Amino acid sequence: MDTYDLRSCTEEDLRQVCQELGLKRFRALQLFQWVQQKAVRSWSEISNIGKEDRLALSSRLQLQPLERVKEQRSVDGTRKYLFRLADGELIECVLMDYAREQSRDRHTVCVSTQVGCAVGCAFCATGMEGLRRNLTAGEILGQVLDITRFIRQEDPDFQVTNVVFMGMGEPLLNYEQVLRAISLMNQERGLNIGMRRMTVSTSGVVPQIIQLARDNSQVGLAVSLHAADDETRNRLVPMNRRYPLAQLMEACREYTTITRRRITFEVALTADNANREQAEALVRLLKGQLGHVNLIPVNPVAGTGLERPDLEKLKRFAHSLEAGGISVSWREERGTDINAACGQLRRQWRVGNNESIGTI
Ligand code: SAH
Ligand code: SF4
Repeated sequence: MDTYDLRSCTEEDLRQVCQELGLKRFRALQLFQWVQQKAVRSWSEISNIGKEDRLALSSRLQLQPLERVKEQRSVDGTRKYLFRLADGELIECVLMDYAREQSRDRHTVCVSTQVGCAVGCAFCATGMEGLRRNLTAGEILGQVLDITRFIRQEDPDFQVTNVVFMGMGEPLLNYEQVLRAISLMNQERGLNIGMRRMTVSTSGVVPQIIQLARDNSQVGLAVSLHAADDETRNRLVPMNRRYPLAQLMEACREYTTITRRRITFEVALTADNANREQAEALVRLLKGQLGHVNLIPVNPVAGTGLERPDLEKLKRFAHSLEAGGISVSWREERGTDINAACGQLRRQWRVGNNESIGTI
């Protein structure tokens, strides 16, 4: 008989397994809640299911929590985790806390969707190693579950409120598992994270942007634009050679037509591209598009040769966009003291421990 990854299972999947094992139907909901709400890390914690039933269930369902290899805390409270998966691969995940006065606090987890990434953007540490494999839905949402579990040791009521798919990997190149993870995290009897509190970030996989709009109109979309002309973008984001800007913007228009949601356009600024021509080209490109621009001073990664622009350049860039009628925000700089940019910690850890790093 087949075995399944427990954290990837829907309540319906579990009902099916219970039926095949001749177990009571309500066991499925109990199990689902233990896994997706209480975030258990071992079968022995599941106290209201008898030992015999647990044994039967564990013969068909694998519970594989992530192993915490390293945890770093930034002075601003951001925590970065290095997790080891069951097959030994390493991924990164970040928790950012925002205390708020009016509404409830926001706790955002930035999840990885792949081990490595095939896209190979010029400034990204993850892309330097190529793609090793896709994560399963259980491994994607498992990052949220395990972090929830760790923090609950200090704060029993802790709940993750937001998820951004901005860790390692290109989420839209692992589309099925990402969508499954989103749907599972959205379950009321699970993590219960609202669709509008989840944001998928993409380097611009055009067919899947359109697919996402059609399949799931509530999830937020962030597009890693980084440059407003094909020549520059080909260099920074190689996905552009497959889906150039004209196609990408067409897909964005379709996304907003279907969903009515505004897109976040991410622009990482380096000493080279934080100039007037780029700002003006951006204004022209985004005219009439429902969205706003999030400026990110590039986090320098060894080996990329890219440097962070000075503050004056950044301000001038932001002002040019605003003058052109574009709404601009700055990515709050978080965790720079702990290398919170995607892929940096994993790379450092592997180099420091002499693990071999594959290339594309
Ligand atoms: N693959 C997806 C999501 C993961 S990367 C994507 O590219 O959108 C999440 C964001 O971090 C992207 O906007 C990416 O361009 C940005 N990023 C990666 N490395 C960075 C660095 N060193 N400095 C600043 N931003 C970086
Ligand atoms: Fe991949 Fe995103 Fe990094 Fe580009 S920025 S290499 S798409 S993870």
